Amino acid sequence: MDLYKSNTIKVYNSLSKSKEGFKSINEGMIGMYVCGPTVYSNVHLGNVRTFMSFDMIYRYFLHLGYKVRYVRNITDAGHLENDADEGEDRIAKKARIEQLEPMEIVQRYTVDFHNTLNTFNFLPPSIEPTATGHIVEQIEIIKDILEKGMAYERNGSIYFDVLKYNETEHYGILSGRNIEDSIHNTRVLDGQSEKKNPQDFALWKKADERHIMRWPSPWSDGFPGWHLECSAMSTKYLGDNFDIHGGGMDLKFPHHECEIAQSKVNNNVNPVNYWLHTNMLTLNGQKMAKSTGNYILPNDFFTGENEHLSKAYLPSVVRFFMLQANYKSILDFSDAALLASEKGFYKLMEAVNNLDKIVVSKTSSIDVISWKKKCYEAMNDDFNTPILIANLFEGAKFINLLKEEKQTISKDYLEVLRSTINNFVFDVLGLKNTTESTIGEDKLSGVVEMLIGMRKDARDNKNWSLSDQIRDELLALGIQLKDGKDGTTFSVN
Ligand code: AMP
Ligand code: ZN
Repeated sequence: MDLYKSNTIKVYNSLSKSKEGFKSINEGMIGMYVCGPTVYSNVHLGNVRTFMSFDMIYRYFLHLGYKVRYVRNITDAGHLENDADEGEDRIAKKARIEQLEPMEIVQRYTVDFHNTLNTFNFLPPSIEPTATGHIVEQIEIIKDILEKGMAYERNGSIYFDVLKYNETEHYGILSGRNIEDSIHNTRVLDGQSEKKNPQDFALWKKADERHIMRWPSPWSDGFPGWHLECSAMSTKYLGDNFDIHGGGMDLKFPHHECEIAQSKVNNNVNPVNYWLHTNMLTLNGQKMAKSTGNYILPNDFFTGENEHLSKAYLPSVVRFFMLQANYKSILDFSDAALLASEKGFYKLMEAVNNLDKIVVSKTSSIDVISWKKKCYEAMNDDFNTPILIANLFEGAKFINLLKEEKQTISKDYLEVLRSTINNFVFDVLGLKNTTESTIGEDKLSGVVEMLIGMRKDARDNKNWSLSDQIRDELLALGIQLKDGKDGTTFSVN
């Protein structure tokens, strides 16, 4: 059933600065592009929050039956240390410091990114293109912009002529900045002097002899400007004009503003119908960011080894914590807030697992139909996950009352309750079903595996008394070890 036909979603469009009814270009299909990570270091939880918001949005579109082409790129070249086209390429710099090939850096942190997202139960995008895989496309766009007179060459580098563009178009349409502001905010540094105006941005940079990441072009051996890759890859895979472009708020300017200008010149059409921006995850009231050292790595949550954490947490608990906030609101991380989310998460999971214990009646005393409607209304209102979760807790309350036979439900309504809970908890929010008792089992097997390892070490060292002691004491606790040719296994009696 195509649920999208009966569910109109309202999205906050950063371009119009208002909530609009969402209508895709092609019925039943959505093209969505999200700026991916620059793979020069491990992603921190702030990055994860942005990607998680779009994972939730992607999941909801899929749930509604849309066919979605979700493109999320990997930035593996061209992202300089700051936004003013200065400094070293972030990846090249890391490669220099660590004495590795840039592509080793790219590989290492792309793998880390994927592992992290898998741990948090993300769905993979439909296409994950890289900047280095699209150099030819980027050069073609630069040629076109040059031909149209909106860019100029200086010493082998090509710059987009922002002032000229702004004569006929509106540079600042997305971010709300005007050129005067941007002149005011742009530091004029020595290295920039080849630009006509400080607010021009690089489409192509000539590489100096030290720069290892370089490609031939009609203008110089060099590399593309960071903003260009997203224009090239989004329009290549989604068309000149596509439905949704997303990213963190901090990318609105200059990155997304520049994307609009480049694509507009290149294709004579506004590239994106709906711009969606996520708000920041903060720590101690400051944006989580690698550059300031104010961040927590995802892995620290699973080990609990971090000064900001009192204990280890499950990935689904961290996911639940982040989705309890609206993607457009700032979320300040605290251990106390995470602990509260953990409590709520287990309460919800317990209720989900109690669904099987409900006995059906001939009649229903609870109105699951209007409850289900409220769940959809929450998500249709710009993906309002905190309201959805509040409704899911109401569903959990129903389940517990039904289990205790304080309310009644018919077979059909129980099916509505069950499918709605499962759809939203697992498919849309992407949580994994874990209860405190299954955590206990996971922990027990971890401890037994550790003792099996210690017993093996004892045997290897011919410390028979210790190895026998481990085996016998485990047996006394009802845990039997079995030695086989592939190692030792255990069973709990
Ligand atoms: P980067 O690799 O720096 O380009 O960042 C990848 C994505 O993470 C971008 O969409 C950023 O907007 C987003 N991001 C960076 N820091 C935070 C933060 N503290 N909270 C939420 N999103 C962030
Ligand atoms: Zn981008």
